[in-house]
Amino acid sequence: MTSLSFDQLPLAPAMQANLQQLGYTTMTPIQAASLPLALAGRDLIAQAKTGSGKTAAFALALLAKLDVRQYAVQALVLCPTRELADQVTQEIRRLARAEDNIKTLTLCGGATMRPQLASLAHGAHVVVGTPGRILDHLERQSLDLSTLQTLVLDEADRMLDMGFAEDIAQVARQCPAQRQTLLFSATYPEGIAQLAKKLLRDPAEVKLTEQHAAHKIRQRFYEVTEAQRLHAVGLLLNHYRPVSTLAFCNTKQQCRDLVAVLRAQGIVAQELHGDLEQRERDQVLIQFANRSCSVLVATDVAARGLDIEGLEAVINVDITPDIEIHTHRIGRTGRADDDGWAFSLASMDEMGRVGRIEEMQGQESVWHPLDELTPKDSGRLQPPMVSLQILGGRKEKIRPGDVLGALTKDAGLPGAQIGKINVNDFSTYVAVARGIADQALAALNNGKVKGKRIKARRMLEGPSP
Ligand code: ADP
Ligand code: MG
Repeated sequence: MTSLSFDQLPLAPAMQANLQQLGYTTMTPIQAASLPLALAGRDLIAQAKTGSGKTAAFALALLAKLDVRQYAVQALVLCPTRELADQVTQEIRRLARAEDNIKTLTLCGGATMRPQLASLAHGAHVVVGTPGRILDHLERQSLDLSTLQTLVLDEADRMLDMGFAEDIAQVARQCPAQRQTLLFSATYPEGIAQLAKKLLRDPAEVKLTEQHAAHKIRQRFYEVTEAQRLHAVGLLLNHYRPVSTLAFCNTKQQCRDLVAVLRAQGIVAQELHGDLEQRERDQVLIQFANRSCSVLVATDVAARGLDIEGLEAVINVDITPDIEIHTHRIGRTGRADDDGWAFSLASMDEMGRVGRIEEMQGQESVWHPLDELTPKDSGRLQPPMVSLQILGGRKEKIRPGDVLGALTKDAGLPGAQIGKINVNDFSTYVAVARGIADQALAALNNGKVKGKRIKARRMLEGPSP
């Protein structure tokens, strides 16, 4: 077996030390496969599932080439959404800490132009953004890509889904021909090959088609009628009691119906779909990640690219007609050292699809009867945490430590009962253990954060108004 240590790579000692500090002791398989090529300057088509560490794979390559003293845009990363662009920016910044003064800028649609123009005027080494907004800046000539060395297309499959092909091509036309282009994608639909042909030069292809550690994902199939299907999701949840579940439906309508059915049973479920405003989407994801929402219900398109850790279960509410998508869905659970459940609900009409899944996985499905699902005595499934929203965020210079201090030092609540704290521009979200939610809310509303009185509220667990 080849060593997966970062030591083997031609990276600066400061970068090696930084990786150690970040806890990146070994490369993930996609990093091991792509970094040597990318660092050698090759164009690359890299495919690996969500959560496999693709960001660092391209970030290390683009950072290695960066000349900090040259105050000009040397790398551009195109992402499908603001949220993904934010995630990528964060990861690049973490990795860039090895060197002083590397400036990374996010340019996405939906945000106001003026601050972006001001930041651009100050200069940046790395730009991360969505294709439409990058194009805007190119047209206004507020962004100049003539010094670019590395172009990255991240989540290329999703960008194609979202209709960005032409925008991407236009952006690429404004980049120097002598550049390195790295294309990363979780799946490999037809459009990717066409896009690559247009934009990449003699690319190396690295594909890690999914081989899940099969023992880590325990798959179970349940036969259902259409009338039983949505109800069966509640049965599964109350029987297995996973803290965090991602439930996939084939259509948006099915997502909406499922959320309504689960909520009627008192289960905290939220829908992730394309029509949400960015702020709503952020809130849904924060509540899911901080364990105050039990179930996230999504279509494949809406869930693509999400980096969610610690999923106990994935439920295929419908069986997808696309086998690759099935593999991708169940790969969301059982990450790292955790075991995970993957439940699939299949009607007679879907048995053909199940047959193809079995063929591909080279193993027979394990079927269980619905009536073995009995609720536990402990009552209905409840998330362990509750989210409190504080009106005020980065604009008010609130930091996570301020909120933690208000709850622990000022109000005397135990730190172990305080969960994730997310500070956004205008709001801060703090997860607290369900048992102390009222106390914590009162403490926030009666006390001070950063020396100021603040307003906090408990986030809704039922349907939004
Ligand atoms: P992808 O883009 O493939 O979906 P990400 O780049 O978002 O995956 O990485 C998933 C998670 O893995 C991130 O939280 C990242 O910080 C972490 N990660 C990446 N590479 C490593 C590594 N070599 N060792 C440990 N953690 C890593
Ligand atoms: Mg990614």
